[in-house]
Amino acid sequence: MLVERLVVGMLQCNCYLVACDDTKEAIVIDPGGDAPLILDRVQELGLAIKYIVNTHGHIDHIAANRPVKEGTGAQLAIHQDDAEWLVTDQGDYARMLGVSSPGPAADVLLAQGDEIAFGNERLQVIHTPGHSLGGISLVGDGVVFCGDTLFAMGVGRVDLPGGSWETLMNTIKTRLFTMPDDTVAYTGHGAETTIGREKQFNTWFR
Ligand SMILES: [Zn+2]
Ligand SMILES: [Zn+2]
Repeated sequence: MLVERLVVGMLQCNCYLVACDDTKEAIVIDPGGDAPLILDRVQELGLAIKYIVNTHGHIDHIAANRPVKEGTGAQLAIHQDDAEWLVTDQGDYARMLGVSSPGPAADVLLAQGDEIAFGNERLQVIHTPGHSLGGISLVGDGVVFCGDTLFAMGVGRVDLPGGSWETLMNTIKTRLFTMPDDTVAYTGHGAETTIGREKQFNTWFR
């Protein structure tokens, strides 16, 4: 499985291209800006994008949904509890980022236990609320794409609508920290980490 990180938009969101090595079928996780950069890379790698998956509905993760969808013909997927964000005007925040909001509605509504299949690869959807109501993580062999739920030495903010500190802590402890220690966590911002490293060193949990 190919994983490539592109840092996009003013808020430096991590957008991931995740592809099946055999078939070049792929997904784009969180196209939060810089659509030309994303589309160029998709073309250079010769990928056929099957899905755009938003880990959650915040504008810095969805801002380039429309151009990437139009440029690839991909289906747009998000958890059902965050789908409303896609079709809501995210106002001053969106204008600050210079993007038109709202963007396109979801084609696929995700729920706990669903699978995202592309080529010979499969990622499992787990519901990881707390940073937002409908936050998800995508779990593969030894990897998890966890959006803004967990960061290297940090956790997601909980002051936006649908955020809850108690829920976030419970999510991380019961749904992420139960994964093997060597699981690589690809986060929504900043460097990747591992579950074991965060369990041991993340000061929110020591
Ligand atoms: Zn967020
Ligand atoms: Zn974010």
